[in-house]
Amino acid sequence: EDNLLKKIASHAKEYGFIFPSSEIYDGLGAAYDYGQNGVELKNSIKQYWWKAMVQMHENIVGIDASIFMHPTTWKASGHVDAFNDPMIDNKDSKKRYRADVLIEEYIAKVEAKIQKEVTKAEKRFGDAFDKEQFLATNPNVLRNQSKIDSINERLGNGLENGDLADIKALIEELGIADPVSGSKNWTDVRQFNLMFSTEMGSVAEDANKIYLRPETAQGIFVNFLNVQKTGRMKIPFGIAQIGKAFRNEIIARQFIFRMREFEQMEMQYFVKPGEEIEWYQTWKAKRIAWHKSLGLGEDNYRFHDHLNLAHYANAAADIQFNFPMGFKELEGIHSRTDFDLKAHEEHSGKKLQFFDTVENKAYVPYVVETSLGLDRMFLAVLSSAYTEETLEDGSERTVLKLPAPLAPYHVAVLPLLKKVESGLPAKAREILTELQFDFNCQYDEKDAIGKRYRRQDAIGTPYCITVDHQTLEDNTVTIRDRDDLSQIRVSIDEVKGKLKETTSM
Ligand code: ATP
Repeated sequence: EDNLLKKIASHAKEYGFIFPSSEIYDGLGAAYDYGQNGVELKNSIKQYWWKAMVQMHENIVGIDASIFMHPTTWKASGHVDAFNDPMIDNKDSKKRYRADVLIEEYIAKVEAKIQKEVTKAEKRFGDAFDKEQFLATNPNVLRNQSKIDSINERLGNGLENGDLADIKALIEELGIADPVSGSKNWTDVRQFNLMFSTEMGSVAEDANKIYLRPETAQGIFVNFLNVQKTGRMKIPFGIAQIGKAFRNEIIARQFIFRMREFEQMEMQYFVKPGEEIEWYQTWKAKRIAWHKSLGLGEDNYRFHDHLNLAHYANAAADIQFNFPMGFKELEGIHSRTDFDLKAHEEHSGKKLQFFDTVENKAYVPYVVETSLGLDRMFLAVLSSAYTEETLEDGSERTVLKLPAPLAPYHVAVLPLLKKVESGLPAKAREILTELQFDFNCQYDEKDAIGKRYRRQDAIGTPYCITVDHQTLEDNTVTIRDRDDLSQIRVSIDEVKGKLKETTSM
């Protein structure tokens, strides 16, 4: 599976989706650049989200707050005091790890052992296999399952909440070794604050210390009244935002899954106190429906409800996606109570309340948040689209079966011949000009047509239009479908209709 992620990363690089940041200097840890095709796909994902959240909801509006915020913001939000991950170093290899992740990976390995037993038994018993019965009785499975249960019980659901000394003790008891050196010589576990800081202005005093925002949400909270008043918003209403966030992650691996600079697509929904759980359920349903509407595979999603809640939440769940490295968090949905607005009231001395004209009273609204990582969404789209296929003629191709509306190019226009005298390039460019206004188009005349099809497959272009001699006579072209490889002859006008139907959001 790690192998698949590597393949996807190298495909993404080879075809201009994602490059390591400052690669000529050997890259920078956990920072990536989106290339010419990546930026198109990323922009389309943003647009798809913005359309569903803002355009389709009369009562949701957007903002674009600055990355720098007054430092007190992060005191109020709790990030200065509590935005920490437990970190541990291996004394021999000098490598640094997130202690909770080491344990999570250990659990994943034990889970894989159980899965292996199941697969083995499935093969042996065939149709007669009763999975539930097997899980409940097989001694190996039971032993491994009880191992997992006891770890979970000991540290609570979120490992981050475990006591630091206990995390260290557990790592030693389980005999977890440094994945690099195999050494089990660990330091104590320490807390590590994830915020990046810098100085504002020219004087490097502590008073000038500011942070790069670790989440976009706070920019929404501090603007709550500005938007409510100027937009004459009535509760319930939402504020959406897409923007960069920065976290000094202790370990950042797995390609763009965990980066130190990333983008979030967040929406804070302000509701009447007491109605938050109902809205929380509503947003859970709406968000999973949004994901499934993209067609990346219904089975690739699952909810993970949090049992141990963060200090600000009274209900929380993740939408997990089946990434190449297994099911992992893609989006968080949190019922954040009035924690943030109340904290900002206290720290700023300003009221952040809504006057309810029906009830004739003012209150601090409760908040339901949906928080999606844009880069993780990108990885979900890319990894589910990545397909290696053997075709009927025995040849192989790598194709990105991207949802058509998100593809970097909706259509490629290809003259069969490159020779100017054939008249085909000129005709193809004429068609290109006609389509360019409504669709993202690519023009390509280099190499044999089969090779050009493969190139478009590799970047996920859903359609290729081929311009040949017959086009000059009757204005028809062949349109080739990326997924089923069918080629049909249609008039140029029909092409437009077909493209509109399949590539519009
Ligand atoms: P994780 O447990 O994976 O570190 P989190 O629970 O800290 O994530 P949230 O604070 O809920 O994440 O942030 C909301 C979303 O932002 C996540 O669901 C994820 O998609 C995205 N996200 C968070 N941290 C990163 C990161 N370092 N790189 C890329 N995306 C991230």
